[in-house]
Amino acid sequence: MIVKSKSKFKNYTEVTVVYDAIEQCSNCNKALAPEKLYSIIIEKNSDYYLYVADFCNSCKSVLITEYKVKRINDMNFEYEKILRTSPRTYEVEKFDENIENISPQFVKIYNQALQAETIGLDEIAGLGYRKSVEFLIKDYAIYKNPEKEEEIKNTWMKVCIEKYIDNDNIKLLAERSDWIGNDEAHYVRKQEDRDIKDMKKFIKAMVYFIGMTLITDDAASMKPKK
Ligand SMILES: [Zn+2]
Repeated sequence: MIVKSKSKFKNYTEVTVVYDAIEQCSNCNKALAPEKLYSIIIEKNSDYYLYVADFCNSCKSVLITEYKVKRINDMNFEYEKILRTSPRTYEVEKFDENIENISPQFVKIYNQALQAETIGLDEIAGLGYRKSVEFLIKDYAIYKNPEKEEEIKNTWMKVCIEKYIDNDNIKLLAERSDWIGNDEAHYVRKQEDRDIKDMKKFIKAMVYFIGMTLITDDAASMKPKK
């Protein structure tokens, strides 16, 4: 919501600033009626930055939002873009027990990537998600082909997907995640219109299909009783 408000400038002048007030709490994700406590504009290397402190009534947190602003004249500033809001609380993503059982490392790495993403380390997060996919796929391949464990551990993920993943849905999702994952790891991006948001969707779908296979395998292990 665009608002026009008074702000301190360098702690001594009062100026007017137009900016986009946050409408959702970064900490609890609840809708937030902007309740500005304080704001200040500071100058850093000839650029101007606005800091707004808001209060969230739901989680009782003070949120600080940083904006890049431009100086229109002595008394007026206008925002260019929002840079970040903090704090951001990272919430652990829970996975079904059967996924935890076949690939505890996937769950661990995925959550570390999520934690990195939450605090704005998107480049690192991409690498982390890619690594989590490798563990999920390899652990699943080992579960399906236990006698090939050593070979699977030591092969490229691409080879592992082609050779050891028989479910077409999992195969396709793993392959596409690998494409995006490689972009996260390399200097030149090939899939320009895809990013970690897509990779996360693919991971969720993979987890779903693997989970369904594990349940089906469990059902198949039942023996008729007379
Ligand atoms: Zn909140």
